[in-house]
Amino acid sequence: MSSPTTKQGWLELKNTLVYQDKAWIDGKWHSAYGDETYEVTNPATGETIVKMAACQQQDVDLAVSAAKRTFESGTWSMSSPSHRKEVLKKLAALIRENQDELALLESLNMGKPVADALNLDIPGSAACIEWYAEAIDKIYGDVAPTDANNVATITREPVGVVGAVVPWNFPLDIAVWKLAPALVTGNSVVLKPAEESPHTVLKLAELAKEAGLPDGVLNIITGVGAVAGQALGLHHDVDSLVFTGSTATGKRFLKYSAESNMKQVWPETGGKSPNLIFADCDLDKAVEGAVNGIFFNQGEVCSANSRILVDNKIRAKFVEAFVEAAEKLVIGDPLDPETQVGAIIDQAQVERILAAIETAKQQGAKLVLGGNADLSKRFLHPTIFDQVTPSMDVAKEEIFGPVASIIGFDSEEEAIDIANNSIYGLAASVWSNDISRVYRVSKRLRAGTVSVNTVDALDFTTPFGGYKQSGFGRDLSLYALDKFTQLKTTWIKLS
Ligand code: NAD
Repeated sequence: MSSPTTKQGWLELKNTLVYQDKAWIDGKWHSAYGDETYEVTNPATGETIVKMAACQQQDVDLAVSAAKRTFESGTWSMSSPSHRKEVLKKLAALIRENQDELALLESLNMGKPVADALNLDIPGSAACIEWYAEAIDKIYGDVAPTDANNVATITREPVGVVGAVVPWNFPLDIAVWKLAPALVTGNSVVLKPAEESPHTVLKLAELAKEAGLPDGVLNIITGVGAVAGQALGLHHDVDSLVFTGSTATGKRFLKYSAESNMKQVWPETGGKSPNLIFADCDLDKAVEGAVNGIFFNQGEVCSANSRILVDNKIRAKFVEAFVEAAEKLVIGDPLDPETQVGAIIDQAQVERILAAIETAKQQGAKLVLGGNADLSKRFLHPTIFDQVTPSMDVAKEEIFGPVASIIGFDSEEEAIDIANNSIYGLAASVWSNDISRVYRVSKRLRAGTVSVNTVDALDFTTPFGGYKQSGFGRDLSLYALDKFTQLKTTWIKLS
């Protein structure tokens, strides 16, 4: 069956949806302790989608004990890599079979254009699961170079119970970046989605059961961060905690670990990524990349290229073309397949972004596009500031919305200094046709990913994560297995 191609088609599908309102623990739907709930709303309309189970400490305890019990039983953790591969490949196939429902749920939960969810998020999740599934039965251990009287093997073992806490901007994708490597290596997982966006991971849990994942290996606790997230972070039976979200919450998880069982904590946190545009670049491509780099997903992207550093020799030309391209973006109803910029996650976030825009104006940045929301305060116009200086708040703070700051520079050295002058170091982009410059600059940028003549380069084959207060550890690629496995040395003295 083909996917809807019109707004009407998506609306018809929406009318058939049944929204899940419970958590998923030990392979069953589960109401929260005391029947506590919170509201999940559609950011594009403000409608309440569902009153969702707000898990409490007691529910987290149940989920962690189910995860621990199944881990220790060995049904999944000790099963053969080829078995885990087959189950996860089946899960990827089921995601593809259910892609329309998943794409619609993603859009209804967080306001992104349904076309992006359908073309990027959902197939990306399926492909990521498949990639790890295909990898797991091709990874070998090591034999240490001991003397002839001894044999020492070095093997990777699952860490045990993994707690995963994820944000709302790519709800399924980022969850899968954690779940795929965690599950394929044999761990049991308790995942807490963001309050705003629980539905696609709940559907995923149901599909995982259908694919053959044993009950208790994957548990989803819905609920509020300060309650359910904190209980997971402080839990003594969680062995590793993988997190994506804000830097402030990432720091909390480090503290939770210190206050409880010294669990491993792997934070992937905020960003204020620079996009360096040199005079010797292909300007048309740089403009197109810059638009995508900051306005994709309403600018709600951790690695959004929110600081655009432009050689003053071409700045006027760049600004003119950048504004012209950004003006053409189609903003509005996420269910309209023509929409390129959807709704902001909630009205509080719209207010925060508008406050940041006001501060930028007061501090002397020149507003050259946007700066305003629609009447409902759900949609924000792509906003561009020129004449930004590195000391302004708009150049320093993560806004997490469609706001670009243009900062001029006069030399390569100055561009590198401005780019690195940030507490964050998640990503950077460089536009230049001079290979020596590209390499020189890339080497000096303090960022986990440097995209050259493109923006936000990302694939399962390459690690993704930050320097400085953007966190540590890496998602994606085989390097992510470091988070989900521990090394075991087995030393055999030969007689
Ligand atoms: P957030 O930190 O508010 O929430 C993230 C998760 O943490 C949610 O599940 C939330 O419920 C939970 N949480 C919140 N407060 C908590 C607490 N006190 N204790 C335990 N858990 C708590 O972030 P957000 O608003 O959902 O997402 C936006 C942020 O995520 C931005 O800063 C963005 O840069 C970052 N992000 C980073 C990456 C990356 O890979 N580095 C990717 C996407 C988003």
